[in-house]
Amino acid sequence: MAKYTGADCKRCRREGCKLFLKGDRCVTGKCALDRRPTVPGQHGDANLRKKATGYSLQLREKQKVKRAYGLLESQFKKYYFEGKRQRGATGEVMLSLLERRLDNVVYRLGFGVSRAQCRQIVNHGHILVNGKKVDIPSYQVKVGDVISVRPKDHDSSLFKDIKGSKVVTPKWLEVNTKELSGKVIALPERSDIDLNIAEHLIIELYSR
Ligand code: SF4
Repeated sequence: MAKYTGADCKRCRREGCKLFLKGDRCVTGKCALDRRPTVPGQHGDANLRKKATGYSLQLREKQKVKRAYGLLESQFKKYYFEGKRQRGATGEVMLSLLERRLDNVVYRLGFGVSRAQCRQIVNHGHILVNGKKVDIPSYQVKVGDVISVRPKDHDSSLFKDIKGSKVVTPKWLEVNTKELSGKVIALPERSDIDLNIAEHLIIELYSR
């Protein structure tokens, strides 16, 4: 089979870390970053990343997080401003707000293989929050919210393999895959975010 060289994997190779954009492929031997951990289009110079300093380092960190959550610049920047407005360390609040997006929660509950797919799942109206359809991927979940797959979709090809499967969630969420539902039991903390992020670089970038 030809080697996969899609745009998503190039993003990971550019940032030098797994952004988990391709679902199952990301956790198998097919991961392009595992196979070829070099910067795309730069004649394979893996050291180019290490040479980044100052502004370019800050920019790369921001691009990494923005791409992981699949956001446009204008969307991403709103999380920075909201993080700044709320009490607490701006970077940590910003990351917590990103994690609380409904499309991310659906992903963390294991109801889709990537954030991009989970965004579509939300957009297409498959997800209920507290029993009511919410088709806004940026919807911010709260403690106590119950997120579930619309009952009439339980046997669809999208979800039938997930039903009853084992899913490991971060500690702020609990999942019941038999019921295809999950609950927010706490707000996500910094330690719950498994991407390797130096958020202070993003704050420095936007504070310039
Ligand atoms: Fe591609 Fe996923 Fe590996 Fe990133 S983590 S390079 S998206 S397979």
